[in-house]
Amino acid sequence: MSEREEIAVVGAGLAGCLLACYLARRGYPVALYERRPDPRTGRVERGRSINLALSERGLDALRRIGLERQVMADALPMRGRMIHPVEGEPQFQSYSSGGDRAINSISRGALNNALLNAAAALPGVRVAFDHRLVGLDPANGEMTFETPQGKVSAAASVVLGADGAGSAVRGQLLGYGALTESLDFLDYGYKELTIPPLGGDFALDPGALHIWPRGTSMMIALPNPDRSFTCTLFWPTHGTASFASLGSPAAIERYFAIHYPDLIPLAPNLVDDYQHNPVGVLGTVRCTPWQVAGKVGLLGDAAHAIVPFYGQGANCAFEDVVELDRCLDECGDDWSAALPLYQRRRQANAEAIARMALANFVEMRDKVASPVFQTRKKIEHALERALPGRYASQYELVSFSTTPYAQVRRRVRRQYQVLGAVAAGAVAALAGAAIAFGRGRRR
Ligand code: FAD
Repeated sequence: MSEREEIAVVGAGLAGCLLACYLARRGYPVALYERRPDPRTGRVERGRSINLALSERGLDALRRIGLERQVMADALPMRGRMIHPVEGEPQFQSYSSGGDRAINSISRGALNNALLNAAAALPGVRVAFDHRLVGLDPANGEMTFETPQGKVSAAASVVLGADGAGSAVRGQLLGYGALTESLDFLDYGYKELTIPPLGGDFALDPGALHIWPRGTSMMIALPNPDRSFTCTLFWPTHGTASFASLGSPAAIERYFAIHYPDLIPLAPNLVDDYQHNPVGVLGTVRCTPWQVAGKVGLLGDAAHAIVPFYGQGANCAFEDVVELDRCLDECGDDWSAALPLYQRRRQANAEAIARMALANFVEMRDKVASPVFQTRKKIEHALERALPGRYASQYELVSFSTTPYAQVRRRVRRQYQVLGAVAAGAVAALAGAAIAFGRGRRR
């Protein structure tokens, strides 16, 4: 294919903007279509600010095109979890054995704007805001968009859907019978709350990701550069203990006073936030294939949205972009070979992180406060120090490496098997020693 043929990227979110940068670097003219107006001139929708934890995979993707330093200027490193019990002092748990590794809190809006600026500044990238894709013919790449001026058509030799969990590109392919999808929604939703600065400073330690594990509900808080924290409360959407169960300001105050008492003095707008911020849905999107005839492809949440409990959705979306770029390299920019190769390499990894993210929800809301979990973390850190390069925890491999997610799952399973065998051996040896000792004493 000639380098002059335009590639259409649908969705100027995190994956779409990064993808436009990578494609422009390869010499492609890129048309980036976004349904919203330019976010750099607009206001963030209430309760949808979402700050993200960006870790090694995302940073690696940014580093490869020289954007890491610029993006990280706005980021705040978090070196561990701060666990808030209902009563008593918060406890800090380091993410890494040396205490030096951090995931980074960054505003999704700021990150998106930085990537949009980078893409729009590249020669060959054209951004069309207020363009909502409503039609796509996968056979010839013809697209239809709704715009404030009415419907418009456009065509491209390759169309890449980076239009998020509710992807219209995926929906179009579904309509043509070109793919199958499954959507697994959790019965949990999320709501944003805010802890403003206290006396001009952070109200909590900004060097940690704060967690309030409460079994059936859970709250987390990430720091922002303006010294506020964005909290996200996860709770069932329906039922007797759920978002639907708190109607009045008194009920909201009572609930938080019982379950999140240390939040009350820190969140003066709690009731207002609770009553007016929307409840977002959480779920896992799976579909197959991720590409059709080398002409239409899916990346990021459009291909594989996951629940946010490992802080990996955006990191994983960025890895998709790096892998597609690598496949284009290896296939000499033959899209009909590169897109299937990209799917083969990424699908198992997306499935692996989807499963790990679901499992991490249980860990975060139920286990992080338990002494067993804390002892396990201490043992893992001790093993990492004693066996550098040979033992690494799942968290370390997911957040601080670019080891493919599927490989991480396999390696962690193997490590647990070995540890289990060693522990069983030690128990057997101890039992044998106890029996021998008992016999010795009876003689
Ligand atoms: P999106 O960011 O959703 O972008 C899609 C873009 O497509 C948007 O700009 C949208 O307007 C546009 N679009 C949609 N439909 C159309 C259309 N029809 N036509 C044109 N344009 C369209 N990830 C992390 O890595 N770390 C975290 O800590 C983390 N925390 C999270 C917390 C919460 C509560 C949630 C919900 C998610 C979190 N994530 C996190 C996940 C992360 O936000 C997503 O994985 C990431 O935004 C995916 O990027 P994307 O570009 O694929 O999709």
